[in-house]
Amino acid sequence: MPEDNSGQDRRDARDPWLLDTHELGRRPGSSLPVRREIPVGTALGVPDVITVPEGAPVSVDLLLESVVEGVLVTGSAVAPTEGQCSRCLDPMKGTVEVDLTELFAYPDSTTDETTDPDEVSRVVDDRIDLGPLVRDAVVLALPLVPLCSDDCAGLCTGCGVKWADLDAGHGHETIDPRWAALVERLEESEAQVADGSEDSEPSAPAGSFPDDTSANGSDR
Ligand SMILES: [Zn+2]
Ligand SMILES: [Zn+2]
Repeated sequence: MPEDNSGQDRRDARDPWLLDTHELGRRPGSSLPVRREIPVGTALGVPDVITVPEGAPVSVDLLLESVVEGVLVTGSAVAPTEGQCSRCLDPMKGTVEVDLTELFAYPDSTTDETTDPDEVSRVVDDRIDLGPLVRDAVVLALPLVPLCSDDCAGLCTGCGVKWADLDAGHGHETIDPRWAALVERLEESEAQVADGSEDSEPSAPAGSFPDDTSANGSDR
């Protein structure tokens, strides 16, 4: 339907990620610098970890070059990021920068005939779509485990307060498992004493008999 087609064209024309290559021409060797800020349509990345938020401006600094097979795009993109430190959970703001290199093949080129559109991007109606190129590169460049600083000490497991906000000597009273076993034995012997069993012989310390020592040795 004609109405639908024109609607599609108008949408495409408004899509800021579509670059018109008309001005570049198709003479191999000609080039065209492109610098602009383009807002991301939907947030990129992992929510609550790190994202380029919806509507954030991505600064692209590109060179479009006409080559025999199509349009070669090289350059970089920089975008603001928001997230939280995965150790101390502090909110973080930063930037992500990616290098870009991508060939957009002409529709009538050998590349077009010999490759799949999934493998090599295409020039469509003299336009190239930077959206997928930049999105993929930015998502890959975002850290999986964002940190406010490389040496962030995170949170005290005892109280959940940031180590950075705690005194140097901060700690929680815990009994070392090795000491815990000793405490248990101490309590047992105290209980025996409390029983006051007069007829039982005083218990000799373990290992005082040669038999015990050899038994211990064979057990190991
Ligand atoms: Zn941190
Ligand atoms: Zn603590």
